[in-house]
Amino acid sequence: MYTIHTDPLHRIAYATDASAYREVPQGVTFPENEQDVVYLIEEAKKRHTHLIPRAGGTSIAGQVVGSGIVVDISKHFKKILEINKEERWARVQPGVVLDELNLALEPYGLFFSPETSTSNRCCIGGMFGNNSCGSHSLIYGSTRHHVLEARGVLCDGSVEVFKTYTIRELEERFGNHFWESQSNLLIQSIYAQLIRWALDEKTVHSIEENYPDKTLRRRSCGYAIDEVIEDLHDDSKPLEYRTVNLCKVLAGSEGTLAFITEIKVDLDPLPPKEKMVVCAHCDTLQKSFLGNLVALQFHPSAVELMDRNILELSKQNVEQQKNRFFVQGDPAAILIIELRGETRAKIDAVADQMERALMQNDEQLVYACSRVYGSEISKVWSLRKAGLGLLTSMKGDAKPIGVIEDTAVAPEKLPAYMADFGQMLEKLGLSCVYHAHISTGELHLRPIINIKEAEGLRKFREVAYETALLVKKYKGSLSGEHGDGRLRGEFIQLLYGDKVYALMQDLKKCWDPDQVFNLHKIVDTLPMDSMLRFEVGQRYAIEKVLGLGKTYYNWKAAFDECKVEGATGAKTQLHALMCSIEQCNGAGDCRKSNLIGGTLCPAFKVSGDETKATRARANVLREILTRGWESEAFTQALNKDKSILKSEELAEVLDSCLACKGCRSECPSNVDMTRLRSEILQHKYDVGCMPLRSFAVSWMATVEQLGHIVWPIYNFFASWNFSSNIIKRIIKFSTERDIPTLSRMTMRKAVKKECRRHQGQATKGKVYLFADEFTNFQEAELGLTFAKLLIRLGYEVEIPKHVESGRAAISKGNLKLAKKFALRNVNLLKDKISEQTPLVGIEPSCILSFRDEYPDLVPTELRPQAQQLGRNALLFDEFIMHEVTAGRITMEDFKTDAVEIWLHGHCHQKALVGTEKTVAAFKLLAGAQVHVIPSGCCGMAGSFGYEKEHYKTSLTIGEMVLFPTIRKAMDNTNNGVPTIVSAPGTSCRQQILDGIGVHAVHPIEILYRWVK
Ligand SMILES: Cc1cc2nc3c(=O)[nH]c(=O)nc-3n(C[C@H](O)[C@H](O)[C@H](O)COP(=O)(O)OP(=O)(O)OC[C@H]3O[C@@H](n4cnc5c(N)ncnc54)[C@H](O)[C@@H]3O)c2cc1C
Ligand code: SF4
Ligand code: SF4
Repeated sequence: MYTIHTDPLHRIAYATDASAYREVPQGVTFPENEQDVVYLIEEAKKRHTHLIPRAGGTSIAGQVVGSGIVVDISKHFKKILEINKEERWARVQPGVVLDELNLALEPYGLFFSPETSTSNRCCIGGMFGNNSCGSHSLIYGSTRHHVLEARGVLCDGSVEVFKTYTIRELEERFGNHFWESQSNLLIQSIYAQLIRWALDEKTVHSIEENYPDKTLRRRSCGYAIDEVIEDLHDDSKPLEYRTVNLCKVLAGSEGTLAFITEIKVDLDPLPPKEKMVVCAHCDTLQKSFLGNLVALQFHPSAVELMDRNILELSKQNVEQQKNRFFVQGDPAAILIIELRGETRAKIDAVADQMERALMQNDEQLVYACSRVYGSEISKVWSLRKAGLGLLTSMKGDAKPIGVIEDTAVAPEKLPAYMADFGQMLEKLGLSCVYHAHISTGELHLRPIINIKEAEGLRKFREVAYETALLVKKYKGSLSGEHGDGRLRGEFIQLLYGDKVYALMQDLKKCWDPDQVFNLHKIVDTLPMDSMLRFEVGQRYAIEKVLGLGKTYYNWKAAFDECKVEGATGAKTQLHALMCSIEQCNGAGDCRKSNLIGGTLCPAFKVSGDETKATRARANVLREILTRGWESEAFTQALNKDKSILKSEELAEVLDSCLACKGCRSECPSNVDMTRLRSEILQHKYDVGCMPLRSFAVSWMATVEQLGHIVWPIYNFFASWNFSSNIIKRIIKFSTERDIPTLSRMTMRKAVKKECRRHQGQATKGKVYLFADEFTNFQEAELGLTFAKLLIRLGYEVEIPKHVESGRAAISKGNLKLAKKFALRNVNLLKDKISEQTPLVGIEPSCILSFRDEYPDLVPTELRPQAQQLGRNALLFDEFIMHEVTAGRITMEDFKTDAVEIWLHGHCHQKALVGTEKTVAAFKLLAGAQVHVIPSGCCGMAGSFGYEKEHYKTSLTIGEMVLFPTIRKAMDNTNNGVPTIVSAPGTSCRQQILDGIGVHAVHPIEILYRWVK
């Protein structure tokens, strides 16, 4: 049975989607079955409100933002009900995620072909609602072309199956010529209205005259009345055999007509394995529009565009930096042209001809082509798909705004339309980002506008209006895929004329006379420039608490250094902090399930709960720090004198974050929640006090340092159940976990001793080791092993004078303390560490703090030195591979004995540098078979898994991928070849031990065992 959640946390988390809109809903609910939906409709009527059906919430036009009750079906309507291989269809619930459906279909050799860029989190129900399509719409069309049947609830609570019926079948149900008389039966009125329109010549004429080009593959503007009545007015058939399928108009109806509970879709055979992508580089945008027409002559399966701005933004994104390998020079635009065929030779032959046509013509449309084959193709598509998300990573208030971002015209009209469009932008003094589905005449056009200012807001409206006029001129569609929502509804009348608009209003009235479904979308929308996330001239509520300047991180530096054209930067540290939160555009990459993979976001993956996704954290931070207690979400009487930093909602979203940095790299908009979390936590402590546990964890290394003086006593109390349970209870650690004990000798001492023994033997240069606080006190043996490995490989080793990394303090939000460590380390090491003599670390989270956090924690004048130090602070694998490249370490240095290694990378390592270099280092062992476990965060995340209230969640996260994969690997006898689980993170190794009793080892230990 459903509950309607009316607490501020739910209402804030669901007040936005991926659009610029924000409206706090009355409540949020998660129906479990169709009957719940029927009850909810009754409930909405009783409360005089409306229901907003919502799936992944990735709509860009504000479709799922509204004042009613948001009905989230992504939690319980997730079943794939039936797959029919022979007839090539699948029956699913609307909350099934597209990529998850396609994973299930793969063994059948089939797939659901309209692949939107948001395929890893958008749901079939949402795709149906928006009539979504993707890069291959050229050959596969949109969702409307693939929905065979749907089941849903109408506003009177009746359940209907929508599929193809002949008029005769309908007459059997409702009576002969039923459309000629009035009926009280809702479903009968719905069919009657459409048949009446189809049989009325004037109405049909009006529709044909005013709807966009029929040849357009992409159309998601207004209700598709033309398509639903198409067969009904086909004079070549006798009336009784004409058909109607209401799915045609339900597709793209944005939850305004009915609540869908099941969808039957047709499937396509998987595309041929042999594919190639030609990346054609153009030096002007105009050339790319013309180049598209040339490419289309060679029957590509897709042509997509990326302009210079997107390519520039991809340089700043950790994940996408790896995917821009094919870019040559500094193109104004790149056309990504996908060719498919039976053999590579055949595709190559087509590519040869196409490249000649593109490059050797009078206009020289293309100056360079890169061909990409095999698994590398997915990297190109990943970069292309990240485009929209990357755009919001532009630093500052001006953003490439979604307002006219999916207009579509026939491709041959595109060059002329674009020329007019360019002039219009010039008149308005705007620049624009261009990208995406050029093959079908749809470009994502994003003018760069600051809608926080009155002038920007005026341009927001003007650009929408002027573009609508241009689209009308070229008989295009104002939306090719993203839908109308509350953004474009206002212009439908202008585009389609009064008569057709009135039909659309009548359609809505007929289906939803009680006004239950998603009001003010498509028709009768509110002004497109109302209910935006930001109001012109709005001040940040947090200013009153912090003043303008005081932040612990230097947020502004990254804004000052951003070189992207149009980026407006930040005025103050606080402004930069708020802009960093506002970078979340709601696109929802943080809603990927564990079936999809990646690290982002473990808290969501394990719960499937929107309020635990990075997006919700960003939404709550933005709402509370901007509007404070004035937010409509806080309807109940509150003690408004209390600092907003003490809000429970803030505490809740920060508490569920593991600080794993998954978002730091995988969020295309670079929302770095780990950092935001520690900044806000410190301010929270400033207005209150730091919890004992956070205090204890951030001072842990100091405690261990003191404890080491009397280490046997320390270890006795840490491991004796009675005393250790008391300690754990005091600091609220789970009693199921063990308190780490101390090594007999610190790493620092042990390594010093070892180095003394080998003085003068080095042949290859000096390495400075970083004795991080975990290895130094708890795993000195591991530190010593690394030193021995390096000495064996011919290096001189020294541990320089330094203090602890401050990792624990950073993750607990004790930034005052972390800043001290950062400053001290930078001062101690800046003159010693260089490219020739790097600082090498063992524990990823500690050494990577030098690169990731230190430059923004130290005073501005020390930033260049901190950056330089960060560049030369290397993780063990980075150092080894650096030396391999220099030829100083080779495979000859290692034994060839067979071994199977299962690697689990540390989440900070994955986020900042990746695991590729660890794998490459293992490949130095000729007998090694290396498997990278497709896990995200292990669930321990520093102290998170130790904490009493997080213990279970922590193990459940481990159970998602990591534990089952290791169990399977260990069960495999593998012909006597030893199987080793390896994890560079100390907390990951502890988690694997606690979770499944397997001793994982650091990669260094394996390399040491195999070194000759
Ligand atoms: C970065 C980015 C890239 C995008 N790229 C593309 C793209 O390539 N192609 C494309 O087509 N779109 C794209 N979109 C838009 C969006 O992702 C798609 O429209 C997507 O299919 C929406 O799915 P969703 O599950 O998020 O639906 P939601 O946003 O939750 O809902 C979409 C609509 O469906 C309705 N709805 C949902 N469930 C039901 C139900 N059970 N009954 C009735 N109505 C329902 C909702 O009310 C809403 O109107 C992109 C968006 C972003 C942020
Ligand atoms: S946090 Fe990042 S991934 Fe998540 S919705 Fe916001 S922008 Fe998208
Ligand atoms: S740091 Fe990890 S847990 Fe926190 S929001 Fe980012 S991905 Fe989610």
